[in-house]
Amino acid sequence: MNLARFPRRRYTPGFTPIEFLPHLTALLGGPEIWIKRDDLLGLAGGGNKTRKLEFLVADALAKGADTLVTVGAPQSNHCRLTLAAAAKEGLACRLVIEERVPGTYSPDALGNNLLFDLMGAQSIRTVPLGADFAAEMAIEADVVRAAGGVPYLIAGGGSTPLGALGYAACAQEIMAQSFDLGVAFDHLVVASGSAGTHSGLLAGLTALNAGLPITGINVRRPRAEQETNVHKLAETTAQLLGTPVPARETVVALDDWVGPGYSLPTPEMVEAVRLLASREGVLLDPVYSGKAMAGLIGLVRRGHFKTGERVLFLHTGGSPSLHAYARDLRDPALNA
Ligand SMILES: *Cc1c(COP(=O)(O)O)cnc(C)c1O
Repeated sequence: MNLARFPRRRYTPGFTPIEFLPHLTALLGGPEIWIKRDDLLGLAGGGNKTRKLEFLVADALAKGADTLVTVGAPQSNHCRLTLAAAAKEGLACRLVIEERVPGTYSPDALGNNLLFDLMGAQSIRTVPLGADFAAEMAIEADVVRAAGGVPYLIAGGGSTPLGALGYAACAQEIMAQSFDLGVAFDHLVVASGSAGTHSGLLAGLTALNAGLPITGINVRRPRAEQETNVHKLAETTAQLLGTPVPARETVVALDDWVGPGYSLPTPEMVEAVRLLASREGVLLDPVYSGKAMAGLIGLVRRGHFKTGERVLFLHTGGSPSLHAYARDLRDPALNA
């Protein structure tokens, strides 16, 4: 795997840290729990989309684009980071916001919505759940072209083979750090949404023959559907890299912690967010990393991992949205 062949912008100086979580490990009394801090990636507020944007924005610049167009949910971290990359590169940015839960986009909302405004989105247009994103982004592209501009369309979550290269690069980074620390990990646990993160990691770890299995924790889709999506994208990413296609059996995307639906709170998510904040000083988010950590905690309690094993949790970021979910997250005892 030779990632240097692909044009890339650099938005993070060096590697993100890998840290041991001593209090969570002691509290759960099972395997050692470690965390890869991709919440500390570069661009405003950090998080996993930064790695994908390094490759996507390099491609946009190579193609002479002056406007980025993308799509996301009302509290989209991907839209926030695409806007931040656009601002940094001197590009304009237009957003299509999918109201996955009707009526949930409000220009007055806090969290990422506020940041959309601060970072100067040129246009924010909402569309209902199930809208045809390709068609909606094509409308934005036409507006840009009519004004003499050059648009570059970025798929939801940046989850294309080119975007997923960011997580093939992260796989390489994790293996280098693991060697440097002298710590071999037995499992990698990660949130699985638009699938670029999970697929890129899988393509990268397969190419490196790392022997590090990935457990994806779904935030939206049923298991079979998500595993098909992840496998498809891992396959096309491996083809772009010229590396072996991961076997279907290596794709695991559990749906036990989705709860009532995408972005809707669960008691397990609230427990995970509060636990990591109060015991480790690490801020998760309610939509992705909180549910993924709820999955990790649930798997430990089920006895899924052996004592003495080392589990690495990939923190994909998202804490800038916390303030928009204050009501779901407050300690009920303090609110009584
Ligand atoms: C987008 C996102 C994810 C999911 O990553 P995908 O590549 O879309 O599967 C996880 N965590 C956070 C904070 C995100 O913003």
